[in-house]
Amino acid sequence: MRILTGLQPSGELTLGNYIGAIKQMVKYQDEYESFIFVADLHAITVSQDPKELRNNIKSLIAIYLASGIDKDKNTIFIQSENIYHANMSWLLECLTPYGELGRMTQFKDKSLKHQNFGAGLLTYPVLMASDILLYDADFVPTGIDQKQHVELARNIAERVNKKYGDIFKIPEPLIPKDGAKICDLVDPTKKMSKSTENPKGVIYMLDKENVIRKKIMGATTDSEMEIRYDPETKPGISNLINIYASLSGLTIPEVIEKFKGQNYGTFKGEVADLVIKTLIPIQERYQEIINSHELDKILDEGRDKTLEIAKKKYLDLRNRMGLGR
Ligand code: ATP
Ligand code: MG
Repeated sequence: MRILTGLQPSGELTLGNYIGAIKQMVKYQDEYESFIFVADLHAITVSQDPKELRNNIKSLIAIYLASGIDKDKNTIFIQSENIYHANMSWLLECLTPYGELGRMTQFKDKSLKHQNFGAGLLTYPVLMASDILLYDADFVPTGIDQKQHVELARNIAERVNKKYGDIFKIPEPLIPKDGAKICDLVDPTKKMSKSTENPKGVIYMLDKENVIRKKIMGATTDSEMEIRYDPETKPGISNLINIYASLSGLTIPEVIEKFKGQNYGTFKGEVADLVIKTLIPIQERYQEIINSHELDKILDEGRDKTLEIAKKKYLDLRNRMGLGR
């Protein structure tokens, strides 16, 4: 069984990315044949500073590796170094109804947030469908925020298969049960995102210990005193419970039982301790990896291997559509 996942180099990786994506990949690498890529083509759907983008791309891979992603168990590559992603995307765009894309939640959110955005923000999910379908991925490990896009990829695949014959495998989202969506610490009704303007609400994976502690101690909570899981009326506390559960491996009821009767301050302190204990060793390994030559070798191998696979799939659809000679 094959899985595939991508992360955008659109900013520094967050605790949300770690819990929702990286940590899951570390778990899955022993069970599945795993493909991981840096989604730099996706990142440019909103404006990026070229220098920062370059830095983020390598930094992201180094964080993956520092977090326990094993180079021998995963195929790791950069999306733009494989030309078939964008090529396939064009074919699929022409087979995707415009209206379907306008209904995507991420498009609605991001199109309000950014001014003068390009058409790529709308067609983003089609590129994501290409990423997935090029490799016959069985599963796409993802946070709940990307579930709608995986469903779109399924719809596209089904439609194409019906029209042109069996080309694509129908992928399934693989969503972790607990802590699937980590929220912003300042506005816990919002997803924690690396592209957010207010860094106070976001824990970055490379944040220093004192910064992490300050952000968690300052997290928005409610005026009650009780540590209870209720994302509707207590989004702030529920988010912290989610974080604690994901990082400790405890279930949500176990976390609530553990902190029963304690005040918010004590609980926040414990959440901060656990986040720090998780991230500091990753940061130490990161420093070693980012300064090594190993990265380029891994990325060259990943590029060459995925070019071969993707080319076959792309040409298959291209030929069936009657393009070229
Ligand atoms: P951007 O703000 O640029 O969209 P992002 O933080 O949403 O960045 P992505 O690169 O879009 O990150 O997503 C990478 C992976 O991380 C996806 O699998 C996504 O589901 C997961 N992810 C992103 N944010 C969260 C979150 N807050 N909680 C859990 N998983 C998340
Ligand atoms: Mg996102």
